[in-house]
Amino acid sequence: MEDCLFCKIASGQIPSKKLYEDEKVFAFYDIDPQAPVHFLVVPKEHIPSPAGICPQNQETVGHIFSVIARLAEELGLENGYRVVTNCGEDAGQSVQHLHFHVLAKRSLAWPPG
Ligand code: 5GP
Ligand code: ZN
Repeated sequence: MEDCLFCKIASGQIPSKKLYEDEKVFAFYDIDPQAPVHFLVVPKEHIPSPAGICPQNQETVGHIFSVIARLAEELGLENGYRVVTNCGEDAGQSVQHLHFHVLAKRSLAWPPG
């Protein structure tokens, strides 16, 4: 996807504060953090939203969750963290490339607003 912000970040065309990378996944800190720790994990493959998860890419999504667990351990998030993915307008999705927010190091309200 030529015009996708997170495709460009994942390929290094646009700089970011990188946390982790492998052949399928890229993780980087959010530019506008909503918690003391706030990073995003994205597939390198362009998937527009959670609604685009299907049998052909579900293995990558499972891999993303195992990467999140490993990063959480490395970052010392033993007190807990929240994984959030917004899908579509009502949920406030602002970048049309699947991404998982990981928020930690503060108490997080539930249910979300
Ligand atoms: P959404 O609102 O789609 O769930 O999440 C998009 C997230 O991407 C937001 O938290 C926003 O701060 C973050 N974001 C938007 N543009 C950039 C950018 O250029 N760099 C980084 N690191 N994060 C970004
Ligand atoms: Zn993309």
